[in-house]
Amino acid sequence: MKDIAIVGAGLVGSLQAILMAQKGYNVSVFERREDLRKAKLLSGKSINLALSDRGWKALELAGIAEDIRAIAIPMYKRCMHAPDGSLSYQPYGREDQAIYSVSRGGLNQKLMNLADDYPNIQYYFDRKCEDLDLSSNTLKFRHTANKTEEQHRFDRIFATDGAFSAVRMRMQKSTMFDYSQKFLDHGYKELVIPANEDGTHKLDKNCLHIWPRGEFMMIALANLDGSFTCTLFFPMFGETSFDTLKTREQVEAFFHKTFPDAVPLMPTLLDDYFANPTSTLIMVRCEPWNYQDKVLLLGDAAHAIVPFYGQGMNCGFEDCTVFDQMYKEANGNWDGLLGRFSEFRVPDGNAILDLALLNYIEMRDLTADPDFLLRKKIEAKFTQLHPDKWLPLYSQVTFSNTRYSDALKNDARQQVVMDQVMQLENIHENWNEPYVMEKMLALVS
Ligand SMILES: Cc1cc2nc3c(=O)[nH]c(=O)nc-3n(C[C@H](O)[C@H](O)[C@H](O)COP(=O)(O)OP(=O)(O)OC[C@H]3O[C@@H](n4cnc5c(N)ncnc54)[C@H](O)[C@@H]3O)c2cc1C
Repeated sequence: MKDIAIVGAGLVGSLQAILMAQKGYNVSVFERREDLRKAKLLSGKSINLALSDRGWKALELAGIAEDIRAIAIPMYKRCMHAPDGSLSYQPYGREDQAIYSVSRGGLNQKLMNLADDYPNIQYYFDRKCEDLDLSSNTLKFRHTANKTEEQHRFDRIFATDGAFSAVRMRMQKSTMFDYSQKFLDHGYKELVIPANEDGTHKLDKNCLHIWPRGEFMMIALANLDGSFTCTLFFPMFGETSFDTLKTREQVEAFFHKTFPDAVPLMPTLLDDYFANPTSTLIMVRCEPWNYQDKVLLLGDAAHAIVPFYGQGMNCGFEDCTVFDQMYKEANGNWDGLLGRFSEFRVPDGNAILDLALLNYIEMRDLTADPDFLLRKKIEAKFTQLHPDKWLPLYSQVTFSNTRYSDALKNDARQQVVMDQVMQLENIHENWNEPYVMEKMLALVS
């Protein structure tokens, strides 16, 4: 048994293909789209993603981290843009810690190019998986170009076909498979800040820029060509929403009022707003992620989350790391492996889904709240003094490999401590006094 199928040549599928090829399997990767490397990709019109430690760990495991580093831009801080145009900065972690802006399309292409080094990986493009016969493990594809049907049987299948996974849909119809989905009230639209004429960036490229505005926000991440991809996260419906911003005049007035410092940087704003799609955000929980020892869901197919912790891809890449560890612990014996993986990993998929939702509130709302900012300052100081006693939640999620489910539990304990510290008299004036740190130490010891 040496033949493996991967359905979906996105980020997680392409990485898993390399990791399985390295173990000596013959890997067939089926992708519904044409080869991304032949399609025209417009920089600045693709999503860019924040890649962090969990993602890097998986890339290192595959031996390709340095190749990816070459197309990644470090972001050390959040740069908050207030409505009056003033800027404030929050480091993400220690001075040397960063999250990295990478283009999703660029990263996907790079992973496919790296996969080309393995003669035992074969990509099949224009193959849309339409169904799977679970009894015989036969995948059914429609060739999207010539409309013909194909069937292929495999002993093991990794389904990495994203949030609307066709393989998962088939598993949903089997017994004892739990599934839930929820669309967020907010959707998103991509916009662009082009490069200066000399190719330099118009904003600090080493920051993730955020315009937090309560019910909504805009963010911007740098691209290699000097542009920024901006993403407006905005209600789908309601008084101020994608639904109500209908004319060029309405959009222009809204942006001038809400993001006045960004408008001069976005000369194609109105054209982009009407040309680019409004996309929705979906959350998916399901369990188990396996069907017997035959099929395993990985990445968004298993756990689609909202993008506000920058963890969707990182979590999907971590799926690959965890699978690799468990495979090696089992000495390559597949008996019960997929079930054990699912049992271990589902709580972490659920936890990052919860954390990502919490971070949405934090990013759009709390980053402009003085109490929130003070909590962060106190936490940062305490972490510096007692790194063995306190790692802020953001660092646990972004700069560590702590299980997401443990990070969520640790956060609940830390919140109790911080609530008490924030009750100290005149805490906004006295937060830097030694007794505040002493109190925290007493509370955590
Ligand atoms: C606006 C936004 C911002 C984000 N920001 C971040 C971030 O900063 N950091 C981060 O870590 N994550 C982020 N994410 C999440 C990240 O994009 C996803 O988690 C990641 O792309 C998941 O990878 P995947 O390979 O599981 O799925 P996908 O990337 O969705 O890939 C699935 C692949 O399967 C193919 N496919 C689908 N159906 C079929 C079928 N029936 N047959 C064959 N092929 C099929 C698709 O064409 C695609 O190539 C963000 C997401 C969004 C929407």
